[in-house]
Amino acid sequence: MKDTVTLTTFQLRSNCGVARLVNTLLPALLLALAVATSSAQTKIALEKNSYSVTDDVKLGQEAAAEARKQLPMLNDDQVDAFVENVGARLATAIASEFRHAGFRYTFDVVNQKEINAFALPGGPMFLNRGMIEAATTEAQVAGVMAHEIAHVALRHGTAQATKGQKFQIGAAAGQILGAIVGGTAGSVISQGSQFGLGTYFLKYGREYERQADLMGAQIMSRAGYDPREMANMFKTIQAEGGSGGPEWLSSHPDPGNRSDAIAKEASMLRIEGNGNSGQFQSIKSRLAKMSPAYTAEQIAKGQATTGGPTTGDAADRRVINVEPPSNAYRTYQPANFLRISVPANWAAVDASAGSVTYAPKGGFVQGDDGGSAFTHGVQLGVVQGGGGNLQQDTQQLLTSLVRANPDLRAAGKSRRETIGGRQGITTPLSNVSHVTGEREYVALSTTQLRDGSLLSIIGVAPQPDAKTYENIFRRVRQSLQIAD
Ligand SMILES: [Zn+2]
Repeated sequence: MKDTVTLTTFQLRSNCGVARLVNTLLPALLLALAVATSSAQTKIALEKNSYSVTDDVKLGQEAAAEARKQLPMLNDDQVDAFVENVGARLATAIASEFRHAGFRYTFDVVNQKEINAFALPGGPMFLNRGMIEAATTEAQVAGVMAHEIAHVALRHGTAQATKGQKFQIGAAAGQILGAIVGGTAGSVISQGSQFGLGTYFLKYGREYERQADLMGAQIMSRAGYDPREMANMFKTIQAEGGSGGPEWLSSHPDPGNRSDAIAKEASMLRIEGNGNSGQFQSIKSRLAKMSPAYTAEQIAKGQATTGGPTTGDAADRRVINVEPPSNAYRTYQPANFLRISVPANWAAVDASAGSVTYAPKGGFVQGDDGGSAFTHGVQLGVVQGGGGNLQQDTQQLLTSLVRANPDLRAAGKSRRETIGGRQGITTPLSNVSHVTGEREYVALSTTQLRDGSLLSIIGVAPQPDAKTYENIFRRVRQSLQIAD
């Protein structure tokens, strides 16, 4: 009877994209059920919970939408596909009594350095890139994921909240995010109460940890992974956490004899097939070739490129990861009479009539319509046919820039500045990026050439990075040598 119910569930699930797993996993699942009924594994029961399954789903979805806006998602198809594949395999291995209507397990990779991961009620999971980089096997990544999935399936977040005061779902979603971002800054653990409700969903007690370890081990074995690798990953997390202790272990404290308890459970379980995709090493080398991940501190200070916090449709915005400007500079000679130095990791990406753009990798986007835009970098241009008056010609250039960029506006007073050894003007501006939809800082500097044309240097950077880039733009301007 039980088998029939499970089979039905499984066939329904095959309609939503896991069809190719069905054939390989079905025998494994039936076998796992046989194991379950012979009680050769620790029996785990759901905790008392005064919230509905729908509450879990709603809470998790709201908090996940916010997390995707405020955290820098890696957005790499291959890495995402790898993690989703491991996750789908694990989610399929959840025992039938812990499957809940509306729960959907999703997996996002955050471009963050620290070894951490968290899962929200109803299924959305976020894994830091640092977690994948620290793991030495696919099963270790699966171990952390299986443990997180167990917390979700056991509804530990709302079960924990059941012990506290009743709260409004809407209010809680915001606070979960506060705890995530606060936790990212490393403060949530020491000042947990400050984030109130949020910590219910991210920080667990020893009993829930014990349950998540055991159920995680059971899920792993059914998905074809050695559960002992979960314990190995916890050791790695501990070893790499440094003196302050890694955040993941603070949120998932050792229930006592953790490794031994997992090993004991593992000895009662049979690993069903081989869950390894064989892709782990290539995913790791792919990550190693990328620009470094953001640190928690950079994210907390708003220095990471994220999907939000705009209210517009996030899906049509491109999220890009850009290397910070190098301290070393490289000199270019864009014209016979001009020399300019820019950070060494910037390159001349677009040289067209009268202008050249220097931008870091990822800071320049060629649009489908043939147009282009840059989010980080400097554009050097020459505008001919002005009246020969620096102030008036600058104003005219500004007017034409506003025409092309309706969101462009002044962000401070213009000031006189010596550029290329002659009189110049610098105007701080603010714009909304065509690429990211987020506010960006723009510095427009102008000076005149002997033939009366206007030389302009336009620096662009995301608003949260304005301070850093302001110094870079100044240094670039000061490097300018004009010999016309
Ligand atoms: Zn845990």
